[in-house]
Amino acid sequence: MGAVIEAQLGAEVAALKAHGVEPCLAVLLVGENPESQTYVGTKVRTARRLGIRSLDVHLPVGTSQAELEAQVQRLNADPAIHGLLCQLPLPGALDPNRIATRIDPLKDVDCFHPYNFGLLAEGAPRFVPCTPAGILALLRHYRVVVAGRHVVMLGRSNIVGRPMSLLLSQKGWDATVTVCHSLTGDLARYTRQADVLIAAIGRPEWVGPEHVREGAVVVDVGVHRVTDPSRPRGYRICGDVRTDAVAPLVAAIAPVPGGVGPLTVLMLMRNTLLAARLAAGLETAAAKGV
Ligand code: NAP
Repeated sequence: MGAVIEAQLGAEVAALKAHGVEPCLAVLLVGENPESQTYVGTKVRTARRLGIRSLDVHLPVGTSQAELEAQVQRLNADPAIHGLLCQLPLPGALDPNRIATRIDPLKDVDCFHPYNFGLLAEGAPRFVPCTPAGILALLRHYRVVVAGRHVVMLGRSNIVGRPMSLLLSQKGWDATVTVCHSLTGDLARYTRQADVLIAAIGRPEWVGPEHVREGAVVVDVGVHRVTDPSRPRGYRICGDVRTDAVAPLVAAIAPVPGGVGPLTVLMLMRNTLLAARLAAGLETAAAKGV
C-alpha cells in the first residue's frame, strides 16, 4: 500500500516540478530527544526519496520561546518553504500550543494551527492531520466501510483521537463515533460494541481480547519501545494492542510496527505537496481525498 501512495506522491512531485515548483518541507527540532531525532530523520529521508526538498533545522536544548518563534517566523517568511512543522515534544518550558499559533496556517502541514483545526471541525479541512489521514488511507485502501457503523475511538488527543473522531463523523465518512478517554468507566462496555476500534491511548499492549468484538476491525496507533532482552537491540516496538491475542478474534488488524506509522509520514508528504500547490496557486480548494 505504501508503494502505491509513494508512486502517487512521486507523480505529484513531478507535476509540481513541471510547473517550476520545487516542493520543500522544513522540520524544526529542538534538543536531543533520540525518539524525536529518529522521527525527524524518517521525515527528512522520506521527503528526499520522493524528490521533496527538506530542511532539517536543529536548535540546541536551551533555545528560548522567543528564539524558537523567531525561527518559525524566518521559515514562514521564506517563499521557497512550503511545509513547516515543529517536532514534538518540545523540551523544557517551550509551549507547543503557542508555537502552533505562530506557524503560517498555509504551511501548517501537521494541522495544529487553531485556524486549520477549526476548518477540520467545520467539516471542510484544508490539511488533514497526518496520523488521522494515514488511518483514513488505510480504511479506504482495505475497503473498510465505516458509514453507518460504530467506530470507537480510544483517546482524545489533539494529534490523533479528537481529529480522527471529527473526520469519521463528518459527511462522506458518516460513522457513528464514540470517543473514550482515561475517565471512561468500564471501557470494554464501549469497545466491545465497536465495528471498528481505533486505539490511541499511549499504553503498551493495553487493549486485549476482552476489549474487542469478534469480527471487528482494529487499528493500532500506539507506538512504544519496550525492553526485550531477547532482541539483539534489547527492545522491541509494540502498539497499544496485544496483537497476538487480539488478531485471532478480529476480521482485520493494522499492527505495530507497520500499519499506521509509515502512512503517517507519507501523509505529511501529501500535505507538503498540497501546501506547495496552494502557494503556487495551482489549488485553492480544501484538501483532496479526505
Ligand atoms: P496522548 O496525547 O497521551 O493521549 C492519550 C489519550 O488516551 C488521552 O486522551 C487519554 O485520556 C487516553 N487514555 C490514556 N489512558 C487511557 C485508558 N487507560 N483508557 C482510555 N483512554 C486512555 O497520546 P497521543 O499523542 O494521542 O498518542 C497515542 C499513541 O499513539 C502513543 O503511543 C503515540 O506514540 C502514538 N502515536 C502514533 C503515531 C503514528 O504515526 N503511528 C502518531 C501519533 C501518536 P485523557 O484525555 O483523559 O488523558
